[in-house]
Amino acid sequence: MLTYDIVIVGAGGGGLYAALETSRCKGLRVAVLTKVYPTRSHTGAAQGGINAALGNVAPDSPEKHAYDTVKGSDFLADQDAVELMCEMAPKVIREMEHMGLPFSRLSDGRIAQRPFGGASFPRTCYAADKTGHVMLQTLYEQCIRFGVEFLNEWFALSLVHNGERIAGLTAVNLRTGSIVGIRARAVILATGGHARIYWKRTSNALGNTGDGPAMALRAGVPLKDMEFVQFHPTGLRRTGILVTEGARGEGGYLINAKGERFMERYAPEKMELAPRDLVSRAIETEIMEGRGFEDEEGNKFVYLDLRHLGRKKILERLPQIRELAIDFEGVDPIEEPIPVRPTAHYSMGGIDTDKFGRTSIKGLYAVGECGCVSVHGANRLGGNSLLDIVVFGKIAGKDAVESIEGLDFVSFPESKVKDEGERIKALFNSDGSEKLSQLRNELSDVMSEGVGIFRSEEGIRRALNKVREIKERAKKLKVYDTELTFNTNLQQTLEFLNMIEVAETIALGALERKESRGAHSRTDYPKRDDEKFLKHSIIRKGDDGELRVSWKPVVITKFPPEERKY
Ligand SMILES: Cc1cc2nc3c(=O)[nH]c(=O)nc-3n(C[C@H](O)[C@H](O)[C@H](O)COP(=O)(O)OP(=O)(O)OC[C@H]3O[C@@H](n4cnc5c(N)ncnc54)[C@H](O)[C@@H]3O)c2cc1C
Repeated sequence: MLTYDIVIVGAGGGGLYAALETSRCKGLRVAVLTKVYPTRSHTGAAQGGINAALGNVAPDSPEKHAYDTVKGSDFLADQDAVELMCEMAPKVIREMEHMGLPFSRLSDGRIAQRPFGGASFPRTCYAADKTGHVMLQTLYEQCIRFGVEFLNEWFALSLVHNGERIAGLTAVNLRTGSIVGIRARAVILATGGHARIYWKRTSNALGNTGDGPAMALRAGVPLKDMEFVQFHPTGLRRTGILVTEGARGEGGYLINAKGERFMERYAPEKMELAPRDLVSRAIETEIMEGRGFEDEEGNKFVYLDLRHLGRKKILERLPQIRELAIDFEGVDPIEEPIPVRPTAHYSMGGIDTDKFGRTSIKGLYAVGECGCVSVHGANRLGGNSLLDIVVFGKIAGKDAVESIEGLDFVSFPESKVKDEGERIKALFNSDGSEKLSQLRNELSDVMSEGVGIFRSEEGIRRALNKVREIKERAKKLKVYDTELTFNTNLQQTLEFLNMIEVAETIALGALERKESRGAHSRTDYPKRDDEKFLKHSIIRKGDDGELRVSWKPVVITKFPPEERKY
C-alpha cells in the first residue's frame, strides 16, 4: 500500500495546475498518477488557444466574456462558475506568462489574441497553433521545479471511500503489472474527456476513454449533463483529426459544392465564427441536402478554404494545420482548400462538481474535461477549455490542501485491492468469444448514428439498447496477452469497459432530455424548452447497478435566458 496526502489522477493541464497549487504547501506528500507520460497528455494536442478578456486587440471585459460563454452554453452553464472563471482568466494567463509560456505576441510585445467562435471580440491568447503543447511543457517544467512526485504509466482502476469520505484508490503499475492500493486524504480526478467513445471519427487521443467518470459512476458519484457531446465542425475528411477553429478565426471560409459560403444561411452575422454546435449542424445539413462533396471512397465533406490568407499568414499562424493537411489529406492549404467534416471532440458533461471541484464524496475532486462544474453548459466555446482546466485545477488544488488540514486517513480495506485483482483475473480467464476491436467499432457506429449531431427518440433508444447489448457481450472479452509488463491488451480492455459505462449515460441523458439545446439537437423536439429543461441532468448508479436520472437547477445570476442568435 502506498500513502500520500493528495493523489491527482491525470497529468494534463488540469492535473498539473492542481499539482502546482498543492506544491505551494510544503510538507504535504502529493503524487500525480498518469497512464501516459505527462507531456503526452491530451492537453498537448490543443491548438487554437485560451480565452481571457485581456483586451489587447479590442476593448473587452470579464463580464462580456461571461455573457458570451453563457450564451454559447445555450444558457445551461452555471453563471456563478462562469463569472468566476472569466474573472480569473487574466490572472492565470499572467501567471503562465511569468512561468515562461511562449505566447504569440503583438508588435508592441503584448500577448496576441485571435477571434474564436461565439466570442464578441478577439479574446483567444495563443502560441501559433500549438498552444496546448507549450502549455503542457511549461506546466510540467514547473512541476519538476517544485518537486512534484509523478507515478508515470500507472493506470487508476477504482475509487475507495467509506460512503462519506475518500480513502484513496486502486491502480495498476503498468511497468510491473502489480495492483496497488493508494491511501490518500484527498483525490483529484483530472482524467480528461471521453470522445473516444466515437472511436472511428474523433479528434481525441486514444486515451480519452472516460476512465474518471466511469470510476466515479461505479463509486456512486453522480455524473452531470452527459448527453452533451461537442462535435467540432472541422475534422479532416478521412481521420477526424482536428483543424483548429483558429483557422476560421484567422479568416478561413467554409465552402459547399456550389461554391457558396453557406454559413450565410445559418449565422449571417457571425458566419464561420458562430458557435460549434451551430456550424457542425450547418455542415451536416449542407451534406444531407446534397450540397456537399463526395469522394471516390464515399467520404462526404465540405471545404475549409484558407488560400486567401496567403502563404505568410498560414506559415506564421497555422503551421501545424498545414502539416496535418499535407500529411493526412495530401493537400497544401496554401494551394488548395482542405476537405473537412465534423468530428467528435469534447465532453461538456462529466463528474458533477461545485465551483471548487468538490464532488458528493468529501475529499474527492474532479477538474478539467472529466468534470462538470458547469461552465460550458450545452455547448463549449472554443478556447474556454484550456481556461477551465487551469482555473478549476488551481481552485481545486487549493481547496484540497485546505480541506485535509487536521483530518486523518479514512480506513482503506485491503480487500479492495483483492477485488480489483479478481476483476482483472476474470478478464484473463474469460471464454473470449467476443473481440475488442469488433465491439469498439460497433459502439462507435451506434453512438454516431443514435447519439451524434442529430438525434431522435427512435435513434437514441436503438443506441441505448445496443450499448446495453454490447455491455453484456463485453463480459466475454478476453485478455490474451499474459505479460505483466506494459500489457496494452489489458489496458485497452479496461478502457473499453469504461467507455461502455460512460456511453450508456450519454444515451440515457439524451433520451430523457426532450428538447434541443446546444449540442443536443433532437429532430423530434427541435426547440429549446426552458420551462421543462432549464436544468442539469444528473445520472447516478444505484446499489442495484441501475442508472437513475434526476435533475438539478441551473444557477442564474446576471444573464436571463434569451433566444440565441448569431
Ligand atoms: C485536437 C484538440 C484541440 C483542442 N484545442 C483546444 C484549444 O485550442 N483551446 C481549448 O480551450 N481547448 C482545446 N481543446 C480541448 C482541451 O485541449 C481539453 O479539453 C483539455 O486539454 C483537457 O485537459 P485535461 O487536463 O482535463 O485532460 P487531458 O489533457 O486529456 O489529460 C488527461 C490525463 O489523465 C490521465 N488519465 C486518464 N485516465 C487515466 C487513468 N485511468 N489512470 C491514470 N491516468 C489517467 C492521462 O494520462 C492524462 O495525463 C482541444 C481538444 C482537442 C482534442
